[in-house]
This record gives sequence, structure tokens and C-alpha cells, in this order.
Amino acid sequence: MAQRIIPLVDHRTAALPTPHAAVPSPAGTLVDARGRPLRDLRISVTDRCNFRCSYCMPKEVFDSQYAYLPHSALLRFEEIARLARLFMAHGVRKLRLTGGEPLLRKDIETLIEQLAALRTADGQPPEITLTTNAALLTRKAQALKDAGLNRVTVSLDGLDDTVFRRMNDVDFPVAQVLAGIEAAQTAGLTPIKVNMVVKRGTNDAQILPMARHFRGSGVVLRFIEYMDVGATNGWRMDEVLPSADVIRLLQTKFSLVPLQASAPGETAERWSYAGADGLHDPALGEIGVISSVTQAFCGDCNRARLSMDGKLFLCLFAGQGYDLRALLRGSDGGRPPATDADIEAAIAAIWQGRTDHYSELRASLPPEATEGMRRVEMSYIGG
Ligand code: SAM
Ligand code: SF4
Ligand code: SF4
Repeated sequence: MAQRIIPLVDHRTAALPTPHAAVPSPAGTLVDARGRPLRDLRISVTDRCNFRCSYCMPKEVFDSQYAYLPHSALLRFEEIARLARLFMAHGVRKLRLTGGEPLLRKDIETLIEQLAALRTADGQPPEITLTTNAALLTRKAQALKDAGLNRVTVSLDGLDDTVFRRMNDVDFPVAQVLAGIEAAQTAGLTPIKVNMVVKRGTNDAQILPMARHFRGSGVVLRFIEYMDVGATNGWRMDEVLPSADVIRLLQTKFSLVPLQASAPGETAERWSYAGADGLHDPALGEIGVISSVTQAFCGDCNRARLSMDGKLFLCLFAGQGYDLRALLRGSDGGRPPATDADIEAAIAAIWQGRTDHYSELRASLPPEATEGMRRVEMSYIGG
């Protein structure tokens, strides 16, 4: 049978802009057309995953016939590290490895070692984090730490085994994810964040049990609104539980006080648990809500995303990426591989032209206006 190819990704690659003659000095001063600096690079290292979360890689689409990228299409570790170095020259300080499931990429520790050796324009090491479903974390936590990984974010959508197995759709048990979190704590990949995507009617009954479980554990639990990323998850607004409702629900059982954002561009609204005196009790820790649907936070979005095949996306909801792999490798038509200076200039020109603000548009336009926009899959450019 012929292989079925579903055009999930808009393969029309955006044309690379002509680099400006004057590239800003590599001191982290690069800002986009809306005045937003470039600080955070999310690197997707594989399009494969061992889970089939229905909101991300539904089984019906990502089945045995699905055409994943061949290995030769993936950026090699040296290529990723080279691009990361050039992004850091433009102000990036934080590198997040994601996917697909990043722990499925063979020898990921080697990539982490290469990234950990990089330095920002002012001589600082990058903050390196990784988002994972934790299926392989128990086995890999210590090696990841030894390679130079600073922290992990673990995705976990509930504590009830039946609910969780249904959501990951590969019958994976909660207990192994909890073991992975424990292994990461033991290895010192802390503070650990746990992301729970909330789907109304599917796992909203898990909000309070998750809060109770992680309160006082040192783990920061964050509730994420189910997003209209990609084109395969059949997203519907009535399955989104607004963060304001999550907070209201939590407040029926816990005393919460709002916290300041810890860094500009932070996506989560932070709340801490209060002690008997009504004040923030550090021993009880904090929670966060990420309101990607009900509250646009494009205003200070400082994140760029690099796909596993070297395309640069300026927004989670973008339909097109800029083909940096073509610059790295040169083209069959005889264009030679680009120099560092060429690539730096291209990155600068791309970022300076950036106007993306999808979530704000979604909030201000009628649903019909944004529904038909082509979007890449979350498993392609990571969360
Ligand atoms: N496989 C890894 C994992 O699940 O942690 C990393 C990649 S996954 C695409 C990154 C994050 O995106 C996860 O926390 C996942 O829950 C989140 N995500 C995926 N699809 C989503 C959606 N439709 N809405 C909100 N978050 C989503
Ligand atoms: Fe895999 Fe992560 Fe997507 Fe779930 S959210 S299918 S674990 S990539
Ligand atoms: Fe950033 Fe795009 Fe999300 Fe807005 S919609 S916060 S620009 S990724």
C-alpha cells in the first residue's frame, strides 16, 4: 500500500528575508517589529513520540502509515549547537529541548553537553531545560543532569490511572511518570515543573487531586488551557476550561495568593499557597496557570522555535518557517553552506521583521477569521 502522507505542516517555507546591512551588535539587543527581545529558543529534536495524547498526536492521524521525517532531514547535533550559539549571540539565554518526545532522540545527552558548553554574549552559560512525558526519565535523569541539563518540565494530565491512560492513549501508567519525577528530583533537575493540559469533561476532575498531590512537594504544578494548536486535534472552545475557573476551583479548597511574574515573557500566572496566617508559605510551594486561550500574552513573547528539520518559527501558531537548514547545508543548486556571519544576519533580519501575535488576534477577531489559518503541529515545533 502506498504510504499515506497527510499535509499537516504547511511545507511552503517562508522566504528568507534579505539581511540588513547593519546587524545589531551581538549583545542581546535584537528586538522584533513590536519591540520584543529574543531570549528563549525552543528546539524540537524529533517528530516522534511514544504517547498519542489526543490533543497533540491523535492516534487516528499519527498511525503506522504516518510519514515521519527521515533521519537525514533532522538537524545533526553539531548543526543544532551551531545555531544555538548564533541565537545566543543575539540574546538567547534559555534553551528548551522538546519534540515530539525529546528523550526518544538517540544520545540526547551528547547534544546537551554541546549546548552546555556555549556562552551568552556576556559569558554566561545558557539555562537548559527539557519538556518530557517522563516515560524514559527514570532511566535517563542522572545522565541528563551529568550532561549539563538544568531542569525538566514533565507533562502529566491526571493522577487517576484510568483517566491518564486514556489521555496518553498508549495505556501508559501514572506510576511510571511519578517515578520519573522522583528520579529527576533525586538527580537535582530542579525545580521541576509539571504541566497538566486541562480538557473540560475529560480531566477537569483531576485538578484538585493533582494540586493536593504536588502541594508542598517542591514541584510547581501548572494548568494549561487546551489550545487550538495544529490542525488534527479537533479543538473546540467548549472543551477549554478557562484558567480563571481553575483558580476559582482551587480556591474552594486552598488559600492562594498571587505572585509576581519571575521573568519578563513568562507564560504562567503564578499563585502561591498561603499558610494559616494568609501569607505565602514557601514550604507549600506554588502553582501556575497558562491561559494561552483566554488571555493573550503575546505582548512580551520572546520565544523562537526551531523544528527538528531546521525551520525557524516565530510563533506557536505560525503556518510557515524559515529554512535555516538550507543555509547550514547549502543547496543542491550550488549555493554553498552559509558562514556564521550570514546565518547571524539572517536570524537578525527574520527576528526584526517579526510581527506575530496570534493569541491577541484570536481574542479580537471572530472565530471564523482564525479558524482556517494553517498551523503546524505542536509535536513538530514543541510546546
Ligand atoms: N512530549 C513532550 C511532553 O509531552 O512533555 C514534549 C513535547 S509536547 C508537544 C510539549 C507540551 O505541549 C506538553 O506539555 C503538552 O502537554 C503540551 N501540549 C500539546 N498539545 C497541546 C494542546 N493542544 N494544548 C495545550 N498544550 C498542549
Ligand atoms: Fe507526545 Fe508530548 Fe504530544 Fe503527548 S504532548 S503526544 S507526549 S509530544
Ligand atoms: Fe507568542 Fe505566538 Fe503565543 Fe503570541 S500566540 S504568545 S506570539 S507564540
